[in-house]
Amino acid sequence: MIVVLFGPPYSGKGTQAVRVASRLGVPHVATGDILRAEVARGSALGKEVDPIMRSGRLVSDELIVRVIESRLSQPDAAPGALLDGFPRTVPQAEALDAMLHRNQRRLDVVVALVVPDADLRRRMLKRAADEGRSDDTPEAYSERLEVYRTQTAPVLDFYRERGTRIQDVDGVGDVDAVTERIAQALGAGQHA
Ligand code: AMP
Repeated sequence: MIVVLFGPPYSGKGTQAVRVASRLGVPHVATGDILRAEVARGSALGKEVDPIMRSGRLVSDELIVRVIESRLSQPDAAPGALLDGFPRTVPQAEALDAMLHRNQRRLDVVVALVVPDADLRRRMLKRAADEGRSDDTPEAYSERLEVYRTQTAPVLDFYRERGTRIQDVDGVGDVDAVTERIAQALGAGQHA
């Protein structure tokens, strides 16, 4: 089963993605984590993306499509994957479609976490205090939210127009409660 977990920055997407992937028995494929690992290793790719990530902007579609294609071709992703942080632009969604089509696969469902802006900002400030991630600054946050609105939100319209199954899930509240909501959304009407 291939699932895209969709949601604005600080919607709790990453936390939920780990939990939901483990329930589904598929790998959690998070492009942000893959890139951060490259930065930590000091690879050429990591050096290229580090300043872009710090600024809150997106790395190029071409680069991230190569990253995801290589990840999805690994054996553990044969039964499926839970995609977190990809696709982030319409061209990425188109590239994913083409990639899956070439391999006689398809995207089964998009889960869209819904969280109001005020909650997002509160969570950003908390994570900045707790984790000190270098892209958790008010400036990078504003940039990330703007990027989400202008480039990533249209991905949902793209899937809507295509008739891809989209499940909106309320992302506010207790972490366990949100996981249950997502599991229910995936269970309801799930096809093999
Ligand atoms: P995330 O952890 O998903 O918020 O990703 C952290 C950063 O990695 C983003 O702000 C982007 O700079 C970069 N990134 C992750 N996924 C993508 C993607 N699908 N397209 C472009 N840039 C990405």
